[in-house]
Amino acid sequence: MKKGIHPNYYENAVIRCACGAEYRIGSTRPEIRVEVCAKCHPFFTGETRFVDTEGKIEKFMKKYGHIYQAKKEGE
Ligand SMILES: [Zn+2]
Repeated sequence: MKKGIHPNYYENAVIRCACGAEYRIGSTRPEIRVEVCAKCHPFFTGETRFVDTEGKIEKFMKKYGHIYQAKKEGE
């Protein structure tokens, strides 16, 4: 390996999730923050919960909610 062109490698980098979970991994960054992880992501927890941090669903429902509702009722 050439020196000076490779980023530092942290063998005990920590990933911190918004839910409080922590993971130790090897990374080029000493600390990584994430909003969802395997512990709290709806796909893994089986919960029906939307991950909506920016109000995108709200905006979508305001714009297209009536179409969505009509479709649901027609099923
Ligand atoms: Zn999490």
